[in-house]
Amino acid sequence: AGMVSASAGALSDYWGDWMRSIGATERVFEIIDSAPEGEGAAGAGRRLQGRIAFDGVSFAYPERPGRAALDDVSFAIAAGEKVALVGASGAGKSTIASLLLGFYRPDAGAIRFDGQTADALALADIRANIAIVEQEPSLFSGSIGENIAFAVAGRAVAPAEVEAAARLANAHDFIAAFPQGYDTIVGDRGVQLSGGQKQRVAIARALLRDPRILILDEATSALDSASELLVQTALEQLMRGRTTIIIAHRYSTIVKADRVLVLRQGAVAQQGTHAELLRQRDGLYFQLMENQLAMYRDSA
Ligand code: ATP
Repeated sequence: AGMVSASAGALSDYWGDWMRSIGATERVFEIIDSAPEGEGAAGAGRRLQGRIAFDGVSFAYPERPGRAALDDVSFAIAAGEKVALVGASGAGKSTIASLLLGFYRPDAGAIRFDGQTADALALADIRANIAIVEQEPSLFSGSIGENIAFAVAGRAVAPAEVEAAARLANAHDFIAAFPQGYDTIVGDRGVQLSGGQKQRVAIARALLRDPRILILDEATSALDSASELLVQTALEQLMRGRTTIIIAHRYSTIVKADRVLVLRQGAVAQQGTHAELLRQRDGLYFQLMENQLAMYRDSA
């Protein structure tokens, strides 16, 4: 008693929602957030250090054979390193995330975690070590507490743990302001949360999951600035000490990353720190930054 965990009812609603939306590729990411039953909860299996390598990875989606979404992609990310993936729409950023999460296998090359090929590891163990925060997280219909505790479905989570995660994620105050607090029902039959609030709930969920590897799909549309600041500081908490791959859209995020991987048409065009890349005046990165600046000037 007194334990919060995702109820069977909430779980089945969630999977129902997911199945309905399976047509949308970004929805596929939701599966990973939630330590599906039978795949072991986070922390149950092997704990990785968080080193990642792509070794000559090529991949075409089964729906589009012969058209490489990734073409001979190689990079290495140290444990705890923060890497921003940048590149035009369709350059392959999300595909890298999908392959990491094991939704697809490379046609050629290898993906390694801590030096071991993904094939040599159990998919459940890989997934238990990764959390993803999407740009528009969708919550299942259930209480806010259940939505956060869903990170570790399969084990009971003490309310104090849920609250601690919510506090770190800058979510506690808005949750506590509801008359029902953590028992407040969200979703179709409950209260609607703002985009920023949903993101903070998703961040609390990821914190509770305590993954070694984090994938952040950065929002393209800005939240209002108060909400933005709360989300940003919560994300910084979440990234601390974890290998982080950011599908980055914002200058501020890219500049803060330890390293930037610039993708063009499924290939790595450049990689290095922001400063290094900016010095290459004829490079794609310089051009992308110029475009960003031009857009900023136009909107100012
Ligand atoms: P964006 O910034 O728009 O999200 P991206 O850099 O993440 O783009 P990807 O989504 O990885 O790019 O797409 C890489 C290539 O693979 C594109 O040509 C895209 O059209 C194609 N692609 C992506 N998802 C699928 C899919 N599920 N089936 C077939 N082709 C796909």
